[in-house]
Amino acid sequence: MKITDIRCAIIGDNPVVRVLTDAGIDGLGQAENSKPYLKPHVLFYKKYLLGEDPTDVERCMLKIRRLGSFKPWGAAVSVIEFALWDIAGKAAGVPVYKLLGGKVRDQVRVYNGGRRQPMGGYTPEHFAANMQWMMACDEGFTIIKQGIAFHSGMPTQTENFFYGTLQSGPPHPNRGPLTEKGLRTIIACVEAMKHVAGDTVGIALDCGPGFTVPDAIRLAKALEPFNLMWLEDMLTGDYTPYVMADLYREVTRATSVPIHTGEQIYLRQNFRELIETKAVNIVGPDPADIGGIAELKWVAEYADLHGLLMAPHGTIDGVIGLAAHVHCAAALPHNYIALEYPVASPAWWYDIVEGLPNPIVQRSMIDVAAFNRPGLGIKFNVDKASKYLSEDDKGFFD
Ligand SMILES: [Mg+2]
Repeated sequence: MKITDIRCAIIGDNPVVRVLTDAGIDGLGQAENSKPYLKPHVLFYKKYLLGEDPTDVERCMLKIRRLGSFKPWGAAVSVIEFALWDIAGKAAGVPVYKLLGGKVRDQVRVYNGGRRQPMGGYTPEHFAANMQWMMACDEGFTIIKQGIAFHSGMPTQTENFFYGTLQSGPPHPNRGPLTEKGLRTIIACVEAMKHVAGDTVGIALDCGPGFTVPDAIRLAKALEPFNLMWLEDMLTGDYTPYVMADLYREVTRATSVPIHTGEQIYLRQNFRELIETKAVNIVGPDPADIGGIAELKWVAEYADLHGLLMAPHGTIDGVIGLAAHVHCAAALPHNYIALEYPVASPAWWYDIVEGLPNPIVQRSMIDVAAFNRPGLGIKFNVDKASKYLSEDDKGFFD
């Protein structure tokens, strides 16, 4: 089998990849809906892959992996990998998780990072009300993540929150030492959420990036009584193009609250210091950024060898991304906690694909059996999906 074409369409705001072959089998991949600008980046790799056998996934990846980087520049490589696995599964007549070593679990747990309601404000009352709303979602989430501190409107909406200068620009641009008021505000908001959640759901907090090391330690120690699931990306994260593992290690050594990072990190090599020095307790790569599902699985196995846990990022990976997550999570070792449930946007995404269970999530779990078809198990309803193709992408399904 040979790759004959690689196409990319922007559907909604998600870059969607379609790899075509001379055997009439095609494969699909999808990147975050925050990255509509990736289309030329996906097409850039085409010349390296034409004529290759897509079922030799690793051999194909060796041709393009070096030409990627930290978020957002690992995404195109990563979602081409999804499409290659989709083809390999279809060619072998098995679901992708079988090719990853087979399933370890029949259901995969998800956590909430995507069912959101506008905050309205950043006081303890707002955080409590927002937690209540998320706990009432139909998915019955058993773990809920909330943005707080530098990963929220707090720096701009709370007077005298930190000693730095307010920045504008890309999401979460602020960074600097907290005031005591800032520190107390964060703690009060966590307390208010915990009061609502009790011990019925686990609370995770997306915190930054932006903390100084002393503030990260001070906050983590103050939050110890709340038995949080984790504190995410306090120092670096999101679109930070580096890791700073030694700084994370200082924070992690100083507290019993699990410390989490990794969503922006590309490739296993860039997780090495984090894992080998046990600089965090939980790693959270996104399969659509780390270099693909096989790369994420490798990191999960290596993390498990070192006593670290795995909670993959994924909130806006879309419905094909969801399928990739499920196949991957099914095959991960027992250090798996939960994946961040991708919520498709716009909602018409759920009408233009076939193969998703309905409902997708029950009691915070997704049945792996719902994806028991060759490949990733998702296909487009071409009639319905074609309506959403731009003039530029008209030939995508041909
Ligand atoms: Mg995050």
